[in-house]
Amino acid sequence: MNTNEIPYKIYLSEDEMPTAWYNVREAMKNKPAPLVNPGTGAPMAAEELEGVFCKELVQQELDNDTPFIPIPDEIRDFYKMYRPSPLVRAYCLEKKLGTPAHIYYKFEGNNTSGSHKLNSAIAQAYYAKKQGLKGVTTETGAGQWGTALSMACSYLDLDCKVYMVKCSYEQKPFRREVMRTYGASVVPSPSETTNVGRKILAEFPGTTGSLGCAISEAVEVATSTPGYRYVLGSVLNQVLLHQSVIGLETKTALDKYGIQADMIIGCAGGGSNLGGLISPFMGQKLRGEADYDIVAVEPASCPSFTRGKFAYDFCDTGSICPLAKMYTLGSQFIPSPDHAGGLRFHGMSSILSQLYHDGYMRAVSVKQTDVFKAAEYFARVEGILPAPESSHAILVAMQEAMKCKETGEAKNIVFGLTGTGYFDLVAYEKFHNGEMTDNIPTDEDIAASLAKLPKV
Ligand SMILES: *Cc1c(COP(=O)(O)O)cnc(C)c1O
Repeated sequence: MNTNEIPYKIYLSEDEMPTAWYNVREAMKNKPAPLVNPGTGAPMAAEELEGVFCKELVQQELDNDTPFIPIPDEIRDFYKMYRPSPLVRAYCLEKKLGTPAHIYYKFEGNNTSGSHKLNSAIAQAYYAKKQGLKGVTTETGAGQWGTALSMACSYLDLDCKVYMVKCSYEQKPFRREVMRTYGASVVPSPSETTNVGRKILAEFPGTTGSLGCAISEAVEVATSTPGYRYVLGSVLNQVLLHQSVIGLETKTALDKYGIQADMIIGCAGGGSNLGGLISPFMGQKLRGEADYDIVAVEPASCPSFTRGKFAYDFCDTGSICPLAKMYTLGSQFIPSPDHAGGLRFHGMSSILSQLYHDGYMRAVSVKQTDVFKAAEYFARVEGILPAPESSHAILVAMQEAMKCKETGEAKNIVFGLTGTGYFDLVAYEKFHNGEMTDNIPTDEDIAASLAKLPKV
């Protein structure tokens, strides 16, 4: 096909939006390892999980076999407020880089929460409402998940309690106020409001918090308050399932113009946007129908894939959650207060961990100063002010496009642009003032944290 026929933005109609989520686990020979009860070492039964999570979401979490799970109409209607999201052909970026590569990005920042997280937030809030619950609790790092969940909960008239990692709570007052606008209560974590929060504060006074701490607090409140359950914005199988809308739309858009992707790149925090983006493509790859070079990009400050260990670990610092088998830096790993807050999780989705372990994808880690250089370059060329998290994918997409310039290959590079960076301007300010540094853990730091992995 003549590339001139490909528009700057490939939009789909509402009718072309997926009617079912795609569950990539169905195509995996080696299924992701089950969540395990830390006390008994046995896989968590549905009944046990239902004390923490909503019933229907537990079903989705445990379902390794059903390929397509219908998206309820109510959720699809909500999606229509901001979906389908465009697949953008980065013509301006290609031209500026002088690359023969064709670069495409799926832009998920076109909603008030500013990221892809709303795709799962509305699904999780919907199932909580359907179960007759009063509300949900959660943690948020940089604030995108908390904002998305607040929006979803206010739409469905559910109460929303958010534990926000303390350094973000202080660095991002505007995020906090968006959440409060949508009716959520926001508590900086670790806090004095929970047993686990008090314990962490006693052990690490002055800590700036971590996603792991905030998860422990949110779970404690959910399991000790009647009518509440806990919801999580990444890592879990159910979240990757909901995020498959990103990949399904991307595939429909590419197919419409006969474009065959060569590379698919995404940033990886807990793995949900990348897992969602690659799902249908990975399904093809697992069935041997197509091949793709799939790349996870993580921050050098929190390098779970590239320097972590594939092992059972807690998802939280307080060690109250089930164990997940994943690439992990250890649940006691507290990353430096890096600016890509959404990528500061010590572990990684069990699905992606298994796929990575089995060689179906690769991973690279990048330094935040390089990430911000790429972010600024991209903003100036493509117009969108990207989130620092998303900019990890931008950087590697640009690097790959430059490799194509050397080899003369016209590869089709697709990456996930997960969100916008309007709430990250303090980080941009640090970068512009030359005050940004790269905080990379030493081998000793990581070994010390991995030494504390639970024995299973
Ligand atoms: C949360 C977030 C991420 C990382 O989370 P994943 O679960 O790995 O997708 C990436 N980009 C943005 C904008 C986010 O808000």
